[in-house]
Parts: sequence; structure tokens; C-alpha cells
Amino acid sequence: SDHSLDYPSSPRDIDWSTHYPAYAGTGKLPEFADVGCGFGGLLITLAPLFPDTLMLGMEIRVQVSQYVEDRIAALRVTAASADQPASASASAAAPTAPATAVSPSAHYQNISIVRANAMKFLPNYFAKHSLSALFFLFPDPHFKSRKHKARIISPTLLAEYAYALRPGGIVYTITDVKDLHEWMRSHLEAFPLFEYADEEALRAEGKGPIIDAVYTSTEEGKKVERNRGDKWLACFRRIEVQRE
Ligand code: SAM
Repeated sequence: SDHSLDYPSSPRDIDWSTHYPAYAGTGKLPEFADVGCGFGGLLITLAPLFPDTLMLGMEIRVQVSQYVEDRIAALRVTAASADQPASASASAAAPTAPATAVSPSAHYQNISIVRANAMKFLPNYFAKHSLSALFFLFPDPHFKSRKHKARIISPTLLAEYAYALRPGGIVYTITDVKDLHEWMRSHLEAFPLFEYADEEALRAEGKGPIIDAVYTSTEEGKKVERNRGDKWLACFRRIEVQRE
């Protein structure tokens, strides 16, 4: 339950330098949010592709979020040590070789995770219009209709997502459950601040690598592949409005 979780009362209260020490002092905020990130496959795939973008996963399960935290910490250490000269003789062999400039993201410095119930506390983490991408990848289906209110896409929550997303920002949803796909799609379609964004159109504007990662990078997505299940993608753009 939530009482054991420590929530920031507002995004302003978060010290992001503890999450992204390599970006401390840059004023950067997380721009990509992976809601229910599970074991972190999306974050780890996107990290090197978007070196200037900070990304945050939200995961409610304690062990899983701890696992992702440890996984990111290990990747940072491994990537950083890979930059060191392998041995004294190796560096002596190339004394004039310039130090390779490696962007911080190559060290997985631009990804982090919080243990959080995103359905209750997303606005505590993300300021108005701070996000350019919001991911809901293979969310729990909550099949029974009395459990539909537990679904991560609902009119109330869509208002929060629209608040956190900047105009032009994209909501990416994917699931192997057709009924959940139709549910997410119809709710997003009905919500005035979102418009459907066709996969081909998104690829044409350079978001192909993101869409590829949405399909294939997560642990759940890989499981669906192993089981030869279908994957249903639905993306929506946060529209611009004149006055807000
Ligand atoms: N997105 C990951 C993937 O594709 O591999 C995980 C998919 S898994 C089926 C759904 C995840 O959402 C689980 O790890 C679950 O703990 C998490 N989750 C469910 N409700 C949540 C909530 N309210 N806030 C944060 N995470 C939640």
C-alpha cells in the first residue's frame, strides 16, 4: 500500500541530481516517462539513442523497481570503466590518442526509476507540459469489468497525462490484449486533448527508433514474441490549444 512510500509533494521538491548526477546543474528534467516500466528494457534501449533526454521509469513493485535501480547502477559502472584505457601498455601504445568524448547517456546516466504508484502520484513527479513522451507498454489488463477502474488509462487519468505532456508530446500504448487495446484507444480518442497519431506518420517524423523500442525492447514485449502473440499499438499526440 502507499503509506510505506515516500512521495514528493510536488515536482519542485525533487532533487533530480540524485537520479541523474551527470546532468546536475543543467536544469534538465525528465522528458520521457515509462509508466509501469517493469524490468526497465525500454529505458535501457532508449538511453543511448537520446543522449540529451532524461527518462524516468515508474514501477509500483518494490523488488522490481529495486532490480531496475541496481541494473542501471551496474550499467553505469560498466560503461564508465569501458572508457578507461585497458592497460598502461595500451595507453602507452597510443600516447597521442585524444580522450574519447563519450556523452553521459552512453553511461546510462540519463535514465532512472522511482518506485511509485503512477495512478495516484504521476503529477507529483512531472510538472505541467514537462514530458515529450509517455509510455504505457503492456500494462496490466485487469480483464474483469469491475476491475476496469484499475486500468491505467481512464478519463480522470488522461487529464493528468495531458497536463504533464507538452503540446505535441506523444502517448505510446501497446498491448497484446485486444480488448485493452480497444479500451485505451477509445478513451484516448474520446479525450479532447489527444489526437490519434498514425504509426507511419510518427516514423516519418523520426520516431521510428522509439516505436521499434516500444514493440520489442521490454521484457513483456519479448515474452509476447516468444508466445507469438499479437501486439496492438496505439499512439496519440497531445494537441495544441489556444488558451490553457
Ligand atoms: N512495461 C513493462 C514491459 O513492457 O515489460 C512491464 C509490463 S507489466 C505487465 C505491468 C507493470 O506495471 C508491472 O511491472 C506492474 O508492477 C506495473 N504497475 C501496475 N500498476 C502500476 C501503477 N499504478 N504504478 C506503477 N506501476 C504499476
